[in-house]
Order: sequence, then structure tokens, then C-alpha cells
Amino acid sequence: MSETAGDNSINPFAVALKQLGEAARIVGLDKGMHDILAQPKRVLTVSIPTRMDNNEIHVFTGFRSQHNDALGPHKGGIRYHPQVSIDEVKALSMWMTWKCAIVNIPYGGGKGGIICNPKQMSNGELERMTRRYAYAIADIIGPRTDIPAPDVYTGGKEMSWIMDTYSALKGNFVQPEVITGKPLVVGGSLGRNEATGRGLSFTVREAVKKLGISLKAASVAIQGFGNAGQFAGQLLEEMGAKVVAISDSQGGILNEKGLSVGSVRAHKEKTGSVVGFPGSRSISNEEILVTDCTILIPAALENQITKSNAAKVTAKLVAEAANGPTTPEADDILYSKKIMVIPDVLANAGGVTVSYFEWLQNLRREYWTEEQVNAMLDKKMTQAFSDVYDSYNKYQVNMRKASIALAVSRVTDAIKMRGLWP
Ligand code: NAD
Repeated sequence: MSETAGDNSINPFAVALKQLGEAARIVGLDKGMHDILAQPKRVLTVSIPTRMDNNEIHVFTGFRSQHNDALGPHKGGIRYHPQVSIDEVKALSMWMTWKCAIVNIPYGGGKGGIICNPKQMSNGELERMTRRYAYAIADIIGPRTDIPAPDVYTGGKEMSWIMDTYSALKGNFVQPEVITGKPLVVGGSLGRNEATGRGLSFTVREAVKKLGISLKAASVAIQGFGNAGQFAGQLLEEMGAKVVAISDSQGGILNEKGLSVGSVRAHKEKTGSVVGFPGSRSISNEEILVTDCTILIPAALENQITKSNAAKVTAKLVAEAANGPTTPEADDILYSKKIMVIPDVLANAGGVTVSYFEWLQNLRREYWTEEQVNAMLDKKMTQAFSDVYDSYNKYQVNMRKASIALAVSRVTDAIKMRGLWP
């Protein structure tokens, strides 16, 4: 993933608390319930002494935040980044609680991370750090308690090491169900790689129906052309939309007549960037957000649509593939301009949904076809969009507030039914 957030001065946990406060007001939550949800159930900080290739020991710091498990075991990724902080993982774990509740999968929220720069580490250093982190958090994760997954700068390789370390520590038999986002050969799911972009395309398909827009007449701009952005673009193109602008960390490209997503991907694979794609004009990453289009997909970094550019957004629909690309002030501006935002907690929930399918397959030791996975993902995302849209109509607030209000109601209903014990 990306290097840095768009605006690092914004504390993500403060944003998460503000959103919770608004949802609490919308659904009329009592103070006690609000206080339960305002703090993670548990946050573990671990020190990770790691032998580096030069034989010296470097002590990394890692976290695992478990926000709430009223609906099921904690679920959420592990990120490796120099800017990981305790407030960031706390916020992300709260957002995972909402995301899982919105798509109605039986999980609570979790998130982990290590403060490190994986780009400057060898494979051996990464493996030793990852295994030591897995050992340090082994007592609080588990197939029935907390199931991690990949996040920024982690992937199938790290998930395999964590699965292997956990399995060796806890009974020495293979336990693929402790973690998701694994490669197929160690129990991954077909369709997991494309799941975020595919899930987003289903929510866009549902949203344009509500807006009375035909996808065949829609143009799409995508900021960030990695896993989420590429598959979202490809699937919307398959549904008939025209992708007109694409960017990555090097810059952006525009062609009003349409860009072939597959050809842009091939160009990026060959040259390292979308920039310079034949037949396109160069535009900046700032311009892409305000470029003339029907659907805007921020798929790169946090805090990209802010109070300084939100008024210039021309899209009718913003579908957030990235986590946290729109600041709260920008949300209000977009709402006042009647631009619909499919918020991250809904739009990019396809990833965790297929992670849930992976976990089910692991628990049953049976594996599904890609068609089965995609059809089940469609059903989940379509239902989630419809539930959020009902909440949006019911509360007359923007889609993000409507999503979080829906999630907060589902989670608090479960807490109330279960009661407090001891
Ligand atoms: P990725 O690393 O595959 O791709 C990130 C892309 O963003 C790259 O193309 C990179 O060049 C581009 N980028 C970096 N800096 C940029 C900048 N300043 N301007 C424009 N583009 C820039 O990451 P990803 O997995 O596609 O994740 C993207 C976002 O989606 C993140 O916010 C991530 O948290 C979120 N997300 C991803 C998934 C998933 O399953 N991949 C799931 C949920 C949320």
C-alpha cells in the first residue's frame, strides 16, 4: 500500500470517536452503551526483539486491538508501516466492528500492526519479526477468538508464517482457520484477491439504481491502482461503465473517450506506473479527485477528499475503496451537494466478507468454487447496501452516518441480549 496518509495531522481514533458519538445520537444510545463502544475491549502492546541480518537485535513494537466481540470473534488485518500507532489500530479495530456488523457476518472488530519499514527489511528479517509477533499475540488470537488478515504491506506470505507459528505453538497441528488472506495452497479462498474490488462494484451497481443512473452511461475516475482500484475498475468496466481517469503514486492519466483497464494494468506492470499510457493525458493526483466523472473511486490513501477540495468534486457517486479517504468536513460538503458516498465500511467490506468465507471453508475443510464465492459475495453486499440505504432513509443522514448507526444498533442489540457477566 501507500507510503503516507494524505493528512497525518488527523488523529484516526478521534475521528472514530466522533463518528460513534454521531451514531449514538442518531440511534438514541444510552451513555453506558456508548462508553462500552468508545473503548476497545483489549489492546495489547508487544515488544518484538528480532535478529537482523547484521546479527544485531532490533526491538520492534507491535499492537493488537480487539474492539468488540458481541457478534463474534474479532476480525481484522495486520499492517506493517512506520506510522502505525496505538490510536490508529484502535480506530481501525472500531471500524472493523462496524464493517462486520454492516455486512452481517458474525465477527467483531480487531486490528494489529507493527511499527516498521518493511520496504527496508530482507525476507529473513520480515519472517523473524512476523513469527516473533505471532508468538507475542498467540494467546489472544485464535480460530474462535480473533482471526487476523492482511492489511497495508502484509499479504499471503506473512499470513502463512503466522498460521505456521500459531499452529506449531498451539498443539502442533495445522490450523488454517486462525488467519485469512492465505495463499490457496495453505487454505486460502478462491476469489479473495479480487474480493474488495468485486464487492465495491456490487455496491456501485446498487447505488446507481437508486440514483437513476445507467452504468453504461457512467464515467469512472480511480485514485490508486493497486489491488482494490484495479479490480474495482475492471469489474465496473465489465458492467458497462467507462473508466476515464486512473492514478497511482507517480501521477494520473486521463482520456475522456475511455481507458482500457486491462491495457493500463499491462502498462503499469511493464513500466511501474500508469503514467505515460499511450493516448492519455497526464493529470495530477489532486486533479483526479475533481475530474469530470460520474463515479469517483478513492482507492489509495486516507484523508484525500478534504474541506479544501470537496466542493470541487463533480462525481454523483463516491465509492470508497480506501479506508478513510474522506474527512468528516468533506463528508458534510458532499452531502450538501447531494453527492452520494458509499462509505468505506460498506464499499470495501467485500474483502472481509470473503475472509469470512475463507474461515468457513477452513473450519469445514471443504473448498468452494470461485463462482460460489462470487455469488455469495454478491448476495451479502447487495443486502448490506439495501440495509444501509434503509437506514439512510430512516434517519435522513449521510450514508456513512447511516452505516455506522446501523452497525451500532446491531452491536448494541447483541450486547443487551447477552447482558453483562460477571
Ligand atoms: P495497494 O498497495 O495494492 O495499492 C495502492 C495504490 O495506491 C497503488 O497503486 C499506489 O501506487 C497508489 N498510491 C499510493 N500513493 C498514492 C497517491 N499519493 N496518490 C494516488 N495513488 C497512490 O493497496 P490496496 O490493497 O489496493 O489498498 C488501497 C486502499 O484500499 C487502502 O486504503 C486499503 O486500506 C483499502 N482496502 C483494501 C482492501 C484490500 O483487500 N486490498 C480491503 C479493504 C480496504
